[in-house]
Amino acid sequence: MKRLLILYTGGTIGMDQTPQGLAPVPGFLPQQLARLARPGVSWEVREYAPLLDSSAITIADWQRLVGDIAANHEGYDGFIVIHGTDTMAYTASVLAFFLQGLAKPVVVTGSQLPLVHPRSDGWGNLADAIEAACQPDLHEVCISFNRLLLRGVRARKLDAASFAGFDSPNAPPLARFGIAPQWLRDGWRQANGPFRPLLPQQADIRCAMLLPGAMAAAFGRWLQADRPQAALLLSYGNGNAPADAALLAGVAAASAAGTLVLNLTQCVHGAVAVGAYAASQPLAQAGAIAGADITPEAAQAKLLWLLSQTLADDARRNLLREDCCGELTR
Ligand code: ASP
Repeated sequence: MKRLLILYTGGTIGMDQTPQGLAPVPGFLPQQLARLARPGVSWEVREYAPLLDSSAITIADWQRLVGDIAANHEGYDGFIVIHGTDTMAYTASVLAFFLQGLAKPVVVTGSQLPLVHPRSDGWGNLADAIEAACQPDLHEVCISFNRLLLRGVRARKLDAASFAGFDSPNAPPLARFGIAPQWLRDGWRQANGPFRPLLPQQADIRCAMLLPGAMAAAFGRWLQADRPQAALLLSYGNGNAPADAALLAGVAAASAAGTLVLNLTQCVHGAVAVGAYAASQPLAQAGAIAGADITPEAAQAKLLWLLSQTLADDARRNLLREDCCGELTR
């Protein structure tokens, strides 16, 4: 008998009509899960309070999730996290970084339409999540959505209007759920060392997106004035940015003072590649670290993970360039 622990945090999937519109209804989803009962699998459901619209997720919620999975790692065969779609990719990335050495599947899922809707996608997503959470050789955090199993630390919410809400643009899926599940085991990660969970800590991580004719100087001044612990800059294409004096001075001053400035691309596919264009060089020379093809969601999680540990500045910078849990194409 496989034993699963289901952590229910909220999201559309368990919402019902209330006089104010769709809202999470405590007790409703755990009851509905009984319809998915099957021989050989049992589960325990922990419903979090309050149930969240995932746009409200905080570091404290991530601490609780990481803590619950870490504390129960030995007692269950797999874990399912039921979550709203808005920040699902952020949570999946955080779980991947903070639960390294995981020896069980952790499958995050939710839906675009609530289970109470006659055309809900939630039933299929949950059924596939249960299937994945029973695979003993799946040792990673995944997202089950729209008949795909995606690597959590590579996944993004790319569509708020169709059932195909998620994809992992720079990494292949881990499974496709057709009439029979197609497990793409060749791409699964091997267990890497002992289980070493870590609790996320509060950190000052900022993010800015370049806009033509705007934001470059503002981002530079912001870095100069605030010196956050880390900052993501969403630049153009392969990591290009204007050689704006205020931008470069801000990146240089903040980097010298210990801020981790990570250069990401605004593109969904592809990577920051310093040197592909001359316009990528000034930022790199000022101290910005090239984020390669890491997603913004995984970048936040990785920075949080680096800042939640006692590490020398150099060690943090080196780890940002390395693949730590599947977040980068090697
Ligand atoms: N706003 C909802 C949430 O993220 C959307 C969803 O679950 O699909 O909680």
